[in-house]
This record gives sequence, C-alpha cells and structure tokens, in this order.
Amino acid sequence: MRIHHLNTGTMCPIGKRLVNGTGSLFSRAQLVCHCLLIETNDGLALVDTGIGLDDIAEPMRLGRRWVRQTSPRLDPAETAARQIKALGYSPTDVRHLLLTHLDRDHAGGIADLPGAAVHVHRREYEMAVQGRPGAPKGRYVTAQWKHGPKWRFYGEGGEDWFGFKGVRALGDREGDILMIPLPGHTTGHCGIAVRGKDKWLLHAGDAYFFHGQMQAKPQVPLVLRLFQRRADMDRAMRMQNQERLRALHASHGHEVTIVNSHDPVHYANCCCGEA
Ligand SMILES: [Zn+2]
Repeated sequence: MRIHHLNTGTMCPIGKRLVNGTGSLFSRAQLVCHCLLIETNDGLALVDTGIGLDDIAEPMRLGRRWVRQTSPRLDPAETAARQIKALGYSPTDVRHLLLTHLDRDHAGGIADLPGAAVHVHRREYEMAVQGRPGAPKGRYVTAQWKHGPKWRFYGEGGEDWFGFKGVRALGDREGDILMIPLPGHTTGHCGIAVRGKDKWLLHAGDAYFFHGQMQAKPQVPLVLRLFQRRADMDRAMRMQNQERLRALHASHGHEVTIVNSHDPVHYANCCCGEA
C-alpha cells in the first residue's frame, strides 16, 4: 500500500535540548504532527489530521496556554487539506480519517475533509464528543467537529496482530489497516497499523513521544517527560502500553516500524521514502 508521510503542524516550543534531546537550551525545539496519507482499496485514508485551517484562522480556539507553550507555526501550507491538494488529489478523495485520539493537534483537520468518515475508539468519542464521562477541563476543542462528521466506532477485540488486538478499520475492503487500542494518554487512544510494501508501519500516536523511549533503557528529554505525564489520563495504562510497544520493537523491529505523532526524528526518517 502506498503511504505518504505528512507533517500537518510544526510546533516550536522553547528549550530545544529539553524537548528534542539535542541542541541549545535557548533555541526553539521542533515537534511535528506526523500523519499518514494512504492509498487504500477504498479511496484515500488519512491517519490523524493535525492542525486545521479553522484553527489557523482562529488560533485562540486551540487554547491560549497551549498556543503559548507549543508555539505552533500555523502555516496553512502545512494543513493536510493543502498538502493533499499539492500531491494532486482533491480533498474529496479522502474517504476515511483514522484518528489515534481527538486531542486538538490530531483532530484539527477533520473539518477540512468533511466528506470523510471519522474512525475513532468508542471511548474516545464518548468522552470527547458526548462528555460521558466528562473530559478533563479544556482537554478537547469541541469546535473541531461541530460540523457533525460521520463517525465510525471501534471497541476492544478483533484479530491478533503481533500480540496486540486490532480491528480492521475499513472492514473487508482493506484488510491491512488495523485500529489497535493503546489507552493511557487518553482513555480511547489507539495506534493504527498499516501494511506497507516491505514492513508494517504502526502509527502509535501519543503512546510515546520520543524515539529513545523505544530503547531497552528508555530515555526521554525532561520537558517531554513532564508533558507526557501531564497529558496522561491513565498513567499506569500508558506505561503498560509503552512497555508493550518497547517489547514489540525489540522482538519484531525487523517486521514493524513504530512511529509516534510528534517526534521529528521519526518523521525525518520516514518522510523521504515510502513505507
Ligand atoms: Zn499529540
């Protein structure tokens, strides 16, 4: 399956060394919103949607504190919709949005691709959209889905995938894309596995933030570690799922490439080639 890697939102917080693990304390770090555009048997599918055009038109809806802390670039050319056009497609060619979760830096582009079905874990929908149970205050930007997209829901169960359980996101039309629950960061957080030409690619969303967290002795720069902890809805669950990902990387790294949403190193390794 052909997979394009898109960065749909660069964030430039201060303290590069404490965020990216290298460089000066005083220069700005770089974080990305790593999305996958996949040519499937059922049209284009996009894994996560990054920052959207409506967010850029009205940045304060993203939250004053969030904007101050992450310093998003807010460049319309980075949005998924614009990049999809630049690749020669029409936004209406995108039939499916597969979301790891509904945090603002993942769900912003939903409204720019209004014809697509939005696939999420049921628990994510219940908390973010229905408020059952209520989300932590200010966690979600509900304006990002106020147009009322067509939702499709996932639960637990499904088929075995390297010791994880996954449900075929597009049913029988496309057997090689699976939604895999990896809760912790949010209660309905999922990874999305896609079979590429030679290897599987697992987009693990915000299940971890730094490539060093997949090493046997996990490492993560201080500010990212604090951010990870502050964003945890269920810390024990997040740690447990991160450990499972580390074990998967150690045992099956030759068959599965694991990436996360925000690590620019992962993105740089992926964006020049096709999985
Ligand atoms: Zn995120």
